[in-house]
Amino acid sequence: MDPLAFVPHVVIFPFPAQGHVNSMLKLAQLLSLSNFHITFLVTVDTHDRLLNHTDVLSRFGSEFKLQALPHGISMDNMTTRIGVSGLFDSLNTFAKTFLREFLVNSTVTCVIADGILSMAADVAEEINLPIIYFRTISACSFWSYFCIPELIQAGELPLKENAMDLTLPQVKGMEDFLRGRDLPSFCRAIDLTSPDFRLVLTETRQTSRARGLILNTFEDLEGPILSQIRTVCPNVYTIGAVHAHLKARLATKSTSSNSLWQEDESCISWLDTQPPKSVIYVSFGSIAGVTREELLEFWYGLLNSDQKFLWVMRPDLIVGQERKNEIPVELEQGTKARGYMANWVRQEKVLAHKAIGGFLTHSGWNSTLESIVEGVPMICWPRFADQQVNSRFVGEVWKMGLDIKDTCDRDIIAKSVRDLMEKRIGEFSQRTENMASLAKRAVNEGGSSYINLDRLIQDIRSMIP
Ligand code: UDP
Repeated sequence: MDPLAFVPHVVIFPFPAQGHVNSMLKLAQLLSLSNFHITFLVTVDTHDRLLNHTDVLSRFGSEFKLQALPHGISMDNMTTRIGVSGLFDSLNTFAKTFLREFLVNSTVTCVIADGILSMAADVAEEINLPIIYFRTISACSFWSYFCIPELIQAGELPLKENAMDLTLPQVKGMEDFLRGRDLPSFCRAIDLTSPDFRLVLTETRQTSRARGLILNTFEDLEGPILSQIRTVCPNVYTIGAVHAHLKARLATKSTSSNSLWQEDESCISWLDTQPPKSVIYVSFGSIAGVTREELLEFWYGLLNSDQKFLWVMRPDLIVGQERKNEIPVELEQGTKARGYMANWVRQEKVLAHKAIGGFLTHSGWNSTLESIVEGVPMICWPRFADQQVNSRFVGEVWKMGLDIKDTCDRDIIAKSVRDLMEKRIGEFSQRTENMASLAKRAVNEGGSSYINLDRLIQDIRSMIP
């Protein structure tokens, strides 16, 4: 008997963006600790970037294969030329064919696909292979996406200008605090037939096709919303925060980077010279852009707050015609005295640094979780998709920071930074410390995420024919 016949082979297929690749690669590593064979399926540019900027191959053995899709679609196209729905169209055309051929010609136990790639479920169903989804967003934003049809039926969408501050009874479990402005950004679309809007709507509603739903969250953080989700998707595996989970299972203080960009390591030496909790870390994630005007408001706001800051200024951060205009000299000078700019950093390491006292974030889910695990309070300035929902939870439900969505004013920014770093740090620190210890408990032996990962592993093993 071939001993490999008893080893599960899982194909993991993330959407090609940093946050998705990061958390799904962490899952791959967690499964490989149980000796699973993994094929990690990515676009060519993600494949090349992972090889260029990470040690991805050396941290796995021969049981891991990084498989590039055979066409040259690039995630850079997503924000520029073809948009999100264009990227989906391309994935649907060429990736579907490749996936079908790959699955038919390999011995595969199960597919774990990004929950927004329903074409993977089409293929899996066609060839009768089990599929589990991984949604890389929060439970609260998943649930608000799920409730969009009810909002349309009730006439709440498209959102009206005068309804932005009204709460919405259609999103069960959030009736008391989720306002129009806190809905996923796609709900602001005037045209509900727009491809991007249709996409988020249909991809979320089809989740129950999968045998299970993996979420990068933990029960103590999102328990009440998870109960809502379980009414429509009974088999939910909450295994997060996956980065902390991996650290716990490896019994290590830090894990390898999954960065698709070159990391600036010198910022850590700069942080080493700063007093404890004295620096605010600023990053808007891997995709979001800002106009030059917005950039200047943040820059003046940070300088006027009189706090030290470390700011990730991605080379493609500034969008629009005016991006090449010069930056005022006073800002450059002020930054030399109190700030540090980097193109891209090892965010998990930065947030864990003792000098960090706050995080000015776009509220992407990975960033939010990384902040929660390190007990760092946040100022939330959400840009798109799920970020609007996450920031509401940070500000209103978990009370781990300030939600300044839909404002961009240097005075508000300066005041918020001061409030977070000086005056209100005491108020937030108790909540953030408490949640950070719950997060750690979840991923250690006996914790909810630990138990759920073991259950996932057992369930996949039981799929071996
Ligand atoms: N990130 C990083 N270095 C940076 C900025 C971001 O490593 O300089 C990582 C961050 O740790 C997170 C991911 O990029 O894991 C961003 O994912 P998130 O869901 O927060 O936002 P998105 O980029 O998808 O909008």
